Amino acid sequence: MENFLNPIEPPKIVKSWIDNEESHGSGMELPVFYPATGNQVSILVEDAYKDVDKAVMSARNAFDKSSWRKQSVEKRIEILENCRKLILDNLDELARLECLATGLIFREIKGFHLQRAAYNFRFFAQYISQAHGERFDNTEGYITLVNREPAGVIGLIAPWNAPMALATMKIAAAIAFGNCAVLKPSEQTPFSLVKLVTLLSQVLPPGVLNLVNGRGPITGSCLVSHPGVDRISFTGGTVTGRSVMEHAGKQLTPCSLELGGKSANIIFASADYQRALDGALIGIYSNNGQQCLAGSRILVEQTIFDQFVEEFVERTKNIVVGDPLDDNTEIGPIASKQHLERILSFADVAQHDGDKILVGGRRFSKYQNGYFLEPTAVLAKSNKSRACQEEIFGPFASFISFKSEDEAIAIANDTEFGLVSYVWSDHMPTIMNVSEAMRSGVVWINTPMMRELRAPFGGFKNSGVAREGGYSCEQFYTEEKTVSLPKSPLNLKKFGGGK
Ligand code: NDP
Repeated sequence: MENFLNPIEPPKIVKSWIDNEESHGSGMELPVFYPATGNQVSILVEDAYKDVDKAVMSARNAFDKSSWRKQSVEKRIEILENCRKLILDNLDELARLECLATGLIFREIKGFHLQRAAYNFRFFAQYISQAHGERFDNTEGYITLVNREPAGVIGLIAPWNAPMALATMKIAAAIAFGNCAVLKPSEQTPFSLVKLVTLLSQVLPPGVLNLVNGRGPITGSCLVSHPGVDRISFTGGTVTGRSVMEHAGKQLTPCSLELGGKSANIIFASADYQRALDGALIGIYSNNGQQCLAGSRILVEQTIFDQFVEEFVERTKNIVVGDPLDDNTEIGPIASKQHLERILSFADVAQHDGDKILVGGRRFSKYQNGYFLEPTAVLAKSNKSRACQEEIFGPFASFISFKSEDEAIAIANDTEFGLVSYVWSDHMPTIMNVSEAMRSGVVWINTPMMRELRAPFGGFKNSGVAREGGYSCEQFYTEEKTVSLPKSPLNLKKFGGGK
């Protein structure tokens, strides 16, 4: 049975959006595929340098000449609330468009990703209603004010794994603090974000939010190296992040980089066993396994290791893989053919390194045309295996056992990444000791994943530079300006004025 329907009739041609108008790029035409069927469903017109330049200039004009950055906080809050409403009013269409390009499960897009996308606008509306500057008085009679001003034109680069949820965090933060922006979605998953930007033009003045399309090394690198861009907010892989920072570094453009992960999910014998098992499955298989924060290295204390692995494998065998539109589906297709092949290659890599495949490691035989994969778990020979060191970014878990707290900490930190760590235990000293020892930006205790927008999110080591979240975004999307003035007229020394 392989008769998937398209979630929605997509636009025949995907174009960019500049100055609140559709714009036809001057680059190549690229196919866009539906991952469930492998069928081409649309054509995307790539933006070349001159198109990116037009978008940056539109944002530059809107920033330098229009009143957007001087808009009252009350007005910006109202507009952000309207952005939220536009998402909620168009939930079904946006969810279908996102499903069509990503293959993510429709139910999860509608019930979680888009709710988060809408909330991102409300969150920053609430945040700016509380934002304030600083004032210092000194004994020499001066007042010093520290103001936060919008940074300027922001280049926003989003990945394909959760386009709406991740890009709206950047869009909402950038415009809330008075900036103008140019967004580049992944060329594989443009539909929902193009639709979003056209919807938001109902409430945003021209130039405040523009969108360019195309491949990262072409359109993306034009954007990050453009001298008219004042900040780059990037979410994607570590290798790309390095290249983005190199380009941006030539103009000293500050970057926020949210990069990859190879997170340890540490399960102690002192944990609530059932909760930890459920959490480990959610941690690696949610979002079709394609998430930066996946708990992809599952470290289990030796005394419960065999039982835990056996039950994890049994549950994995029962996971419903299938049509992303079907309410019963738990894992849909991988986002692209190229990515499917990359994940599958790790089954060979694992065997070559001496790991044992416990379940999966193959294409899902029921569907031959779409990009379906059997959810996979391997028993790693050691943490040195490539399946434990490289980000696979799919439904692919590696198991390792440990005997002591110290050994668990050493294995967990033995990675170039440091995004998230998961710790499962009901023993408070273990929780405190291990969470303190983790070299990662986030530690979740007895929790599969929880994003508190007021708190910073981002990684240590090769998992990122800077953070996203309330105050972190305020710091990134604004420039600080120090203004000092005397409280009363001063008796200044008069150069050349005689005695
Ligand atoms: P990529 O790094 O391949 O791409 C990310 C974005 O950057 C895409 O829009 C891509 O465009 C663009 N891009 C690619 N090359 C360049 C370039 N030279 N200059 C500018 N832009 C470029 O990542 P993926 O899209 O494959 O996303 C998966 C990665 O993202 C994983 O490593 C994952 O861990 C990470 N991620 C991190 C998150 C975090 O919060 N830390 C959250 C989600 C994902 P195009 O695709 O069109 O080529």
